[in-house]
Amino acid sequence: MSLRLYNTLSRKPEELQPVHKGMVNFYTCGPTVYNFAHIGNLRSYIFADILYRTLKLNGYKVRWVMNITDVDDKTIRQAIAKYGEKAGLKELRKFTDLYTRGFMKDLDALNISRKEIKFVKVSDSIPEIKKFIKKLIKLGYAYKANDGVYFNIAKYQKDFGDYGELVGKGFLKGKKVGARVKVDEYEKENLSDFALWKARDKEDGNIFWKDKELGDGRPGWHIECSAINYGAFKGTTDIHTGGVDLIFPHHVNEIAQSQPLYRPFTKIWCHPEHLMVEGEKMSKSKGNLFTLTDLREKGFDPLALRYLMLGAGYKTKLNFTWESLTGAQKRLSDLWNKYSAVKKSKSAREDMDPLLGALNDNLDAPQALALLGKNVALLKELGLSPKKLPSLRNETESNIPAEIAELLSQREAARRNKQFMQADTLRDRIFELGYVIEDGADGPSLKHR
Ligand code: AMP
Ligand code: ZN
Repeated sequence: MSLRLYNTLSRKPEELQPVHKGMVNFYTCGPTVYNFAHIGNLRSYIFADILYRTLKLNGYKVRWVMNITDVDDKTIRQAIAKYGEKAGLKELRKFTDLYTRGFMKDLDALNISRKEIKFVKVSDSIPEIKKFIKKLIKLGYAYKANDGVYFNIAKYQKDFGDYGELVGKGFLKGKKVGARVKVDEYEKENLSDFALWKARDKEDGNIFWKDKELGDGRPGWHIECSAINYGAFKGTTDIHTGGVDLIFPHHVNEIAQSQPLYRPFTKIWCHPEHLMVEGEKMSKSKGNLFTLTDLREKGFDPLALRYLMLGAGYKTKLNFTWESLTGAQKRLSDLWNKYSAVKKSKSAREDMDPLLGALNDNLDAPQALALLGKNVALLKELGLSPKKLPSLRNETESNIPAEIAELLSQREAARRNKQFMQADTLRDRIFELGYVIEDGADGPSLKHR
């Protein structure tokens, strides 16, 4: 069986053929840690996790690398807002560490295989970034200006002719490239030579690195991913992921910066679609966002979000509503009920082929979810198994009659669905049968009366 993925660059599904036999170099653009991740951001990492699991199910070794953007316009601006204009690298680190830790917790809550990811912080990669920029200067693709070092799009286009092809063929046709743009984010209409190294300025407080050749300053946003990919893989990346908003300018610029050193920079580009709210992209700037904390406060399990997102398929925009999340939670808790009942009796192995068939078809997660009706053991493969099944802490499982265990899991499901009256009725029934439920911090337990 082979894995086919839709490649944004070629605009068609392609069979994965890794550069190194049996091993996949996999890169995911990570979060900008100036705030807690919203559930739109998390959609792109749930997608990356399903891709990782699919690669593993296909028997590949995977080197999965993710950057943490802890140096950029936004992190610096916010750190200075919090710690004042004298804020330096220490304050920036303190500011971003809080959100980095929050991000790791979010990944854990969503069963994203965090332990398999090699995280690389930008603030730890400054020497590699500087070296990369100096190489580009030497090769003639970057030049110094009074406010930093910029990438020369015209020179790249003259030599390679493919600037912006990730957006579309002939991207530059009829476009005028402006002189320079220092900010990290800009629209296609304001296309200009972009900053690789930003000379220190007042707005950066004391957040800068020294360098004789480049001058005091700090990296622009795009260069980090070129330098980190190169540092991690020393050559072509097999699969590179990030939300569709990263196609331009971020990924277009990553390609341009890297290809003077080696080609291709990346073989397959995968871009999951956005999570929307009432027709608009969920985003920090629009303020229409929810975090996992918001979900928990409303009584939802983060895994219900994972279920909801997998059910949509990654190439379609998904409109977030509380009703859809409620539906997802209900379906998932029904599956968890069955899961605790059949946990030991059926293994996922029997239905691996159809699962792999679905996932290998451009990660058809909705199709994979449909298989759960027949075999709930597949929950585990999809990262949807519950963190805690109703635990029977004070009794060994064999001591608990099957009937009681089943009633306990029904009560758990009722509680998750906020059917509290039904939950109480079930508790009373369990009591009549000789057991008391104790709700502890790590789940319910049963005791003989
Ligand atoms: P950021 O922290 O802004 O750098 O974004 C982290 C990841 O979230 C990137 O891959 C973005 O493309 C992705 N992203 C941002 N907003 C959304 C959204 N509404 N839906 C899905 N992915 C998003
Ligand atoms: Zn990136």
